Formats: sequence, structure tokens, C-alpha cells
Amino acid sequence: MEIFAWVAHKYIMHGWGWGWHRDHHEPHDKVLEKNDLFAVVFGSINAAMYIYGALYWDWLWWFAVGITLYGVIYTLVHDGLVHQRYWKWVPRKGYAKRLVQAHKLHHATIGKEGGVSFGFVFARDPAKLKADLKRQKEAGVAVVRDSVGAGGDGYETVGRNL
Ligand SMILES: [Zn+2]
Ligand SMILES: [Zn+2]
Repeated sequence: MEIFAWVAHKYIMHGWGWGWHRDHHEPHDKVLEKNDLFAVVFGSINAAMYIYGALYWDWLWWFAVGITLYGVIYTLVHDGLVHQRYWKWVPRKGYAKRLVQAHKLHHATIGKEGGVSFGFVFARDPAKLKADLKRQKEAGVAVVRDSVGAGGDGYETVGRNL
């Protein structure tokens, strides 16, 4: 599922689906984002898999359970820890901190081009991600926010939803 999420995020959301994903990359103070429509679409497909699985194929039903579990972990990490939609607690150490930093760095680029960290549960070393961003900036592949690499730990890059 992490591989699927990475591919979908990189090639759909930052590709032809950018129209829905864009507002997740821009500052705002609304409760919902157009980007949430992806959750509705993926949730509907998941629901259809449960129904079809219950009627015809057991394994498809269990496959749907796996997808749901990933979805729960994803939303707890992404919407909970990173974007603080459910609670305000921010992890200050360990792997949870690294997850937050990695996704904050995903939000460091402006626009759909370039970017790092398209996955959600496997986070690379933030220092390496910053180096990647620097390379992309120098190569003109991505527009990177000025705050990145300014010495911060990746927490204070941008506004609430970013
Ligand atoms: Zn994105
Ligand atoms: Zn995000």
C-alpha cells in the first residue's frame, strides 16, 4: 500500500489530479480541502471491494481490510500528526518526529513539480531530503520555499495546512 500511495501521490496527485491536490499545498483556514475528495474516491473503491469481496471472493474482502488498516494509519500520521487536524500534539523525538519532518519537507515545494517524500509511513533522513530539495532547486526542477534549509528542523516551514 505504501508503494501504491507513493505512485498515486507522485503521478496522480502531482500529475493529472493536481487540480484536487493543489489546495493541500497552499495556505488556507478552511476545515475541508478539495484534496479530501481523494479520500472519498479511495474510500468508495474500498467499500466496493468489501461488498464484492463478501459476495464473491473472500481474499478480496481481506485485501480490503488491509487497505482500510493502511488508510487508518495514513490518516493518523498525515492528518493527525503532520497537519494537526485531529489534535495539536506534535512528536518531538523518534520515528514519529521523522515522519512529520519528512512530510513537512514534502510541503516545502511550491507547485506540482519536483518535491520529495511522496510516501507516508517510510520516512527518509530529513537531512538527505533537504539535500535532494537543494539539488532540485539548483537544477530548476522545483520551486522550494525559502524557509527550507534555513537551519530549522523542518517543523516551522509554513502555515497550518502545510
Ligand atoms: Zn503532495
Ligand atoms: Zn500533507
